Amino acid sequence: MSFETLGLNPSILKALTDAGYTKPTPVQEQAVPAAIAGKDLLVSSQTGSGKTAAFMLPSLHRLAELTPEAAASGRTPNQEKQAAFARGERPRFKPAQPKMLVLTPTRELALQVTTNTDKYSVNLRRLKAVAILGGMPYPKQMQLLSRNPEILVATPGRLIDHMESGKIDFSQLQILVLDEADRMLDMGFIDDIEKIVAATPSTRQTMLFSATLDGVVGNMARRITKDPLTIEI
Ligand code: AMP
Repeated sequence: MSFETLGLNPSILKALTDAGYTKPTPVQEQAVPAAIAGKDLLVSSQTGSGKTAAFMLPSLHRLAELTPEAAASGRTPNQEKQAAFARGERPRFKPAQPKMLVLTPTRELALQVTTNTDKYSVNLRRLKAVAILGGMPYPKQMQLLSRNPEILVATPGRLIDHMESGKIDFSQLQILVLDEADRMLDMGFIDDIEKIVAATPSTRQTMLFSATLDGVVGNMARRITKDPLTIEI
């Protein structure tokens, strides 16, 4: 099987070729077509299986379709801001309204996801990912959020801080990913995750990745997804 047969758009296919990816891994073969079709996913797979691309490639594909200007080489959000300033419009504080959120248990994983996303979205200028992490200075994060990125990758605690202080509005969220959900629960993030999920539209697509889908994580997974496709690798 090839990436072409999974139905990904040409800009993403080119990025994969440039990254040296020749064919999808097993989890990608199963996850990508279903996620492009908008299905919720419950996936049990390990780090190293290619799970990041399994959720990020179909998400970028869908976001590019929903945001057609993203596929064109239009203005970046920063250029847009400069143009607005030149027209005499003065910026007012507006919360970020991401279309996709990836929750991860650790800073390291969030940074890895963000780096991989940059690689896959290199030909989709408008679709940029920003990491929101504990330990990062607030002014820097405020600056990143003020660019209204399409994709946020975050650890739950710091994200809650920004949500509760009105810096992020999840009303436009279309895709929610919980990466390494079992580890997030082990680390005591259950209440934070529940709060974040509750702030997102019920029409969202949800993809949950976890080493195990049993017990507490299985219960949460079933509660936050709708008619999910279960993939066990
Ligand atoms: P992950 O399981 O998402 O942490 O990915 C493990 C590593 O495999 C990462 O360095 C990815 O860049 C790489 N990778 C993911 N999918 C593919 C693929 N289809 N072909 C080659 N490398 C890949």
